[in-house]
Amino acid sequence: MHNAAFAAHGVDAEFELRAIEPDEVGPFFEQARQPEWLGFGVTAPYKQVTMQHLDEVEPGAAAIGAVNNGLRRDDGSLVGFNTDASGFMSAVKSMGVSVAGRPAVVFGAGGAARAVVWALLDAGVESVFVANRGTERARELATSLGVYGTVIARGLDDPALPAAMGSAGIAVNATTVGMTVDDVPFDVAPLAQDALVFDLVYVPPETPLVREATARGLMVCNGLEMLVRQGEIAFERWTGIGSTAEIMRDALRSWMSESEAEA
Ligand code: NAP
Repeated sequence: MHNAAFAAHGVDAEFELRAIEPDEVGPFFEQARQPEWLGFGVTAPYKQVTMQHLDEVEPGAAAIGAVNNGLRRDDGSLVGFNTDASGFMSAVKSMGVSVAGRPAVVFGAGGAARAVVWALLDAGVESVFVANRGTERARELATSLGVYGTVIARGLDDPALPAAMGSAGIAVNATTVGMTVDDVPFDVAPLAQDALVFDLVYVPPETPLVREATARGLMVCNGLEMLVRQGEIAFERWTGIGSTAEIMRDALRSWMSESEAEA
């Protein structure tokens, strides 16, 4: 996805995938300070520990507690940011949906849920109802992000959940259900007809939740669009070149159909 955008814009750079062990994290970031680097991306399980190795963490990423991308400044210093949050919101906006002033419901309380809840609060939702399998993790999320707005943390079988869904402008799946388990993370029936269902899962792109919400005639966005948008935002931070979503989307689609054909 990134390499397709580098090629399309004639940028002599490569996005290289590296698997690193926990004791290689520090040396990796020392390397990333070298002049030939534009920046970096990190994924689980290193989104938190990365923050200790940077010179600056931008406020959104600090609030979320995770960095997933960063750039190298000309002086060799490294600044980390979080494009899961901005990529999610860019994908929401691409659907023509405004979440401001309405309640939201988020399923999950892991790293991705933290980015989504922060992004929704930052976008001015009235409140976020966080429903998670483990209530303790949901409460931790509410405690740390509750300073940015109203966050209600509950279990998946909480009796207040159907009413919260009925008034929500957006319902987000930020669990791994649909990826690791072939099931829906929640029932779409209580949602209002103008609500947006957003599934962060992108493998597979069409999850049981996406199918059910589509069948009910709801607006639906899947995780691929968020992946593309967060990539576009990081790419622009590294190169100054924007509007690469289409190139990245095409590259991702061909990669996915090649992977499916090989499987
Ligand atoms: P994570 O930190 O491991 O959190 C996983 C979440 O899923 C937790 O809330 C967990 O609940 C819940 N969960 C797992 N199995 C469950 C089950 N059987 N029933 C109900 N809940 C279950 O993972 P993450 O990094 O937040 O990622 C979550 C999802 O978002 C993944 O599918 C990931 O691929 C996707 N994601 C997509 C993008 C994108 O650009 N589209 C970006 C980031 C992440 P407990 O707390 O109870 O264990």
